[in-house]
Amino acid sequence: MNSRRDFLQKVSLGIGVTALAGLPATAAAPSVPLVRAEKQLRVAIMGLGGYANIVADAMQKCTMATLVGVVSGTPSKIDTWKKKYNIPDKNTYNYETVSELKNNPDIDIVYVTTPNSLHHKHVLQIAATGKHVICEKPVADNAKQTREMIAACEKAGVKFYIGYRLHFEPHTRELIRMRESGELGKIMHVNNYMGFKSGDPTQWRLKKALAGGGAMMDVGVYALNGARYCTGEEPIWVTAQETKTDPIKFKEVDETITFQLGFPSGVIANCGTTYNFNNFERLYVIGEKGFVELSPAFGYGPIKGRTNAGPMNMPPHVPHQTLQMDGLADIILNNKPDPHITGQEGLKDMIVVDAVYESIRKGGQKIFINKA
Ligand code: NAD
Repeated sequence: MNSRRDFLQKVSLGIGVTALAGLPATAAAPSVPLVRAEKQLRVAIMGLGGYANIVADAMQKCTMATLVGVVSGTPSKIDTWKKKYNIPDKNTYNYETVSELKNNPDIDIVYVTTPNSLHHKHVLQIAATGKHVICEKPVADNAKQTREMIAACEKAGVKFYIGYRLHFEPHTRELIRMRESGELGKIMHVNNYMGFKSGDPTQWRLKKALAGGGAMMDVGVYALNGARYCTGEEPIWVTAQETKTDPIKFKEVDETITFQLGFPSGVIANCGTTYNFNNFERLYVIGEKGFVELSPAFGYGPIKGRTNAGPMNMPPHVPHQTLQMDGLADIILNNKPDPHITGQEGLKDMIVVDAVYESIRKGGQKIFINKA
């Protein structure tokens, strides 16, 4: 049996993907009753907004990760979360008391889900408490901040992860496996885009001081991160162009950006992102022997995909955050090698984001990436 068929047969039984992603089998097979592992990764969430709620709900189906604490500046949210998730008083903090986490032996890791431009400050605060950190994307405002976050975590001896949930998602895992195994042949071209029409004009995502940037920062990083896992290479040059059709709403942040990444092999990834229209979500990687197209590719799913061999038959959809948090727990608790979700991976993305903005500032000039 060839490896692809073998894989697809295993996933139809609900076991293959979890093995590939290093996950406990129950996480990817909703029909299997939830049995919690003896060892649990004990997680606190910092910043109880929209995404924190999605992560918390998804974690209720985890077998190896448990939500045990919160950090929030809003007492009413702390009360709601305490009741909803059975969180004890002693595991609740606000932004003034967060340093006291260092005295709490019942929390292993803090998941930072605050607005982008607060990530730097909050990750530094958590690292100083001696807790591991997982931080949402985009990791920071720029590569400089990201380097400081990595250094702070290294100095404190804590692990630093980025919330790259797709690295635990079955279609994405399968595409990476196909590329790594050579089934796609030499990669020739990548075409990724991710965007949506943003709503409320008063939201923090449109304020540079809290968002760091616009569509590029928020969802352009999916197209960019995807280009890196489609090729398995790091870009060596970047060109980028920005269009602003609504200069009032997008006064402070970028609206629509197209960008091109040049890789050492000669492959070019043609990518795009927007905050001003919908139906802009696709990953397309073409090799000499085959292709993978995911559409939708980067949202909460279900992700859909096809390859040169036909539709991708993946197991039933499980919330990405369930797979992600169980996967992370497995890595940390069982000392498994870190996959592409570390602070260093966030840094590789931020170096490119910096280059995208630099190219736009310089009228689309080609920016050569200096990794130093
Ligand atoms: P949100 O506005 O819903 O939540 C942000 C939370 O941070 C709120 O609870 C808010 O009260 C709190 N906060 C703390 N200090 C604040 C301040 N000074 N100003 C404003 N809010 C403050 O936003 P969200 O959609 O939950 O996004 C949070 C983070 O999660 C962002 O970095 C975003 O990029 C990321 N995110 C990731 C995904 C994903 O799929 N991985 C999806 C959505 C959001």
